[in-house]
Amino acid sequence: MLPEKFALAERVLQVAPSPTLAVNAKAKALRAAGADILNFSVGEPDLSTPAHVCEAGKKAIDEGHTRYTPVAGIIELREAICAKLKQDQGWEYEADQVQVCCGGKHGLYNIFQAVLNPGDEVLIPAPYWVSYPPMVQLAGGTPVIVPLKEENDFDFDPEALAQYVTPKTKAIVLNSPSNPTGSVFSHDSLAAVAKMAYDHGWLVITDDMYEEISYIDGKIPHILHADPRLRDQTVLSNGVSKSFAMTGWRIGWSVGPIELIKAMNKIQSQSTSNPAAPSQYAALAALTGPQDFPRQLRETFVPRRAYFVETLQTIPGVTCVNPKGAFYVFPNFSAYYGKSFNGRIIDGSVALADYLLSEAKVATVPGAAFGADAFIRFSFATSMDVIKRGMERISVALAALR
Ligand code: PLP
Repeated sequence: MLPEKFALAERVLQVAPSPTLAVNAKAKALRAAGADILNFSVGEPDLSTPAHVCEAGKKAIDEGHTRYTPVAGIIELREAICAKLKQDQGWEYEADQVQVCCGGKHGLYNIFQAVLNPGDEVLIPAPYWVSYPPMVQLAGGTPVIVPLKEENDFDFDPEALAQYVTPKTKAIVLNSPSNPTGSVFSHDSLAAVAKMAYDHGWLVITDDMYEEISYIDGKIPHILHADPRLRDQTVLSNGVSKSFAMTGWRIGWSVGPIELIKAMNKIQSQSTSNPAAPSQYAALAALTGPQDFPRQLRETFVPRRAYFVETLQTIPGVTCVNPKGAFYVFPNFSAYYGKSFNGRIIDGSVALADYLLSEAKVATVPGAAFGADAFIRFSFATSMDVIKRGMERISVALAALR
């Protein structure tokens, strides 16, 4: 216990605890008590890290790569990231425009720390990945949530976006494919957003973490293709966590204007020093070795996604946008809000997720965690058998609501 007179920092106190924690804590308790919980809350691929990548990590340890590395990461990895960007997107970057960090999340944290002054506003389209608003707040900034519409496939409405712009707007975060919706911004809407960003001089932060896990033909549209003039005010965030099932290795990166990367390196030099050396060598093997793993992931996810979306659409009152990427579905369950079970009223996504957990023994993440209370997030990074049993249980539980 902290002494009574001791006060924690205000910036910590203003960050809200994640609404997912309550569901997770309950899921764990139920499992510990022997309940058969089907878990749809996982945010990582259910395949193992490719064997050659694991071998490269082990080899790095055996070869003595167990010491500090340069703050921004080993040069071989930064060069491999540049080569990948050149090959996949046609973009030219130098190694000193790259910072390797401890996961994509850490990279985004460094970006916000490097650019935000108190009161600076960051436009965050909702549904958003849970960590953006608290990361902005921890850097002293103000998250400005821009709601996207389900009927618009969660794409931008540039006129609606304009209503959220103020003289304090400093940056915008784009996540496409999105966690939690799986939606992808269209080329045209990105071009409209790009024009606003260019005219106002915002920093554009693109979180491309799910770019390899796509179900559309051709490339995911990107704002730098929609408007190449944005290059000097765009920072790309990415990593190997999802595309190579490497969540535990903690390697991500940011690529952008050299002044920004230098500022982020200053922050990294005073915080983590560098990402773990063996993990950097493993990530290097992932980027430079055989590239069939992301395709394998997509092939694994395609039938699960189809089953999920088709089955959800048979449940009365439920609507669900077909995800174009990532491994989540984000159905709208608001038709069930206001109903009750044994006197317990379902007044929103937290109550519904709690009900599904206690009655159907299915763990999900309430949409409130993503700034969209009408929805519930399901991850399909789990087996087809679990998905089939889970959907049956959910249908029964929803039908029991009055
Ligand atoms: N961005 C998005 C949209 C994510 O969903 C995640 C992880 O869930 C991350 C970034 C961070 O990934 P990591 O820090 O594990 O590399």
